[in-house]
Amino acid sequence: MPRAPRTLLLRLTIETAKRTRKCSRSKSHAVRPGERLLLVGERGPAAGKKGYCAACAAEMLAAARDEIDAIRSSVQPTPADAAPPTPE
Ligand SMILES: [Zn+2]
Repeated sequence: MPRAPRTLLLRLTIETAKRTRKCSRSKSHAVRPGERLLLVGERGPAAGKKGYCAACAAEMLAAARDEIDAIRSSVQPTPADAAPPTPE
């Protein structure tokens, strides 16, 4: 049985806010106790995490999906790759 594929989403976790928190993208976005926030680990060995409200998380995840779709389509072979070379 093949192993599960390795996750690429190493820096993402979901947390339920225990107190009112501010979204890292905009201080006007409040995350109230009981609401979920997306925590994104910053780059670097001693870096912390930033929390984002659900609306910002949805936008960020949609943008990430577009990036992943672009990467997937550029890594997959295209019909042109499989076609025999055309004689010149
Ligand atoms: Zn936000």
